Amino acid sequence: MDSNAFAFVILIVIAVLAFASLLRRLPSLSGKRGESRIARKLGRLEKDYYTVLNDLLISTPTGTSQVDHVVLSRSGIHVIETKNYRGWIHGSEGAEQWTQSIYRTKNRFPNPVKQNWAHVRALKRVLSELGDIPVYPIVVFAGSAELKNVNSKSPVVYGSDLLQTIRKNQEFSLSPDQVRKIEEKLLQSNMKDRFSRKAHIDQIRTRQHQSRQRERELICPRCGGRLVSRSGKFGSFYGCNNYPRCRYTFR
Ligand SMILES: [Zn+2]
Repeated sequence: MDSNAFAFVILIVIAVLAFASLLRRLPSLSGKRGESRIARKLGRLEKDYYTVLNDLLISTPTGTSQVDHVVLSRSGIHVIETKNYRGWIHGSEGAEQWTQSIYRTKNRFPNPVKQNWAHVRALKRVLSELGDIPVYPIVVFAGSAELKNVNSKSPVVYGSDLLQTIRKNQEFSLSPDQVRKIEEKLLQSNMKDRFSRKAHIDQIRTRQHQSRQRERELICPRCGGRLVSRSGKFGSFYGCNNYPRCRYTFR
């Protein structure tokens, strides 16, 4: 092989490796993989009792809410948020952020239990005319993550425990007719088309941008209160003057 061909082969190998590592780093892609794994698992639920709806995009007064999976049964609605993570997971239901540790590296990510509460609120709003429907929020870790120190009243489970967590709810609170109406309403409310999905992503970006801008103006992005300088155990930070009603902080 002449040196040109050799250099070419090396170049191809580097390009392939770079592309593979890029794919692994893209959280949206690995998130999608976790979601489809969980969707396949949910497909094993008994069809006579359970209706599974994956990847719903629901409109809310302030924008949209993306719900990974909904499992509908006569017991109520299971609202499932999927996380595809590895490493050790620490977090409590009240915290803003949870921690993933991989050896000595720690990454923070938004508290998935709280994220799921927002999805529950969006679904309840859509279904408000249909009466009081029992709702069971579940967070499922689909990757190789180990739940080390997780405190939450609503279930936070491994993929392998998901089906039994759903099947544990045995009580019939809804009539078959109610279940059918809920399904109909959810399908009507799902903004499936690509345009609204793109708008959803744009909206998240705009909102993040607006939050940064409001922080600069010392206005609380969450409640419109004033952000005031405070000092804490780990140094000074800005917090909302409506604390403890609003716990917004930034550094
Ligand atoms: Zn506030």
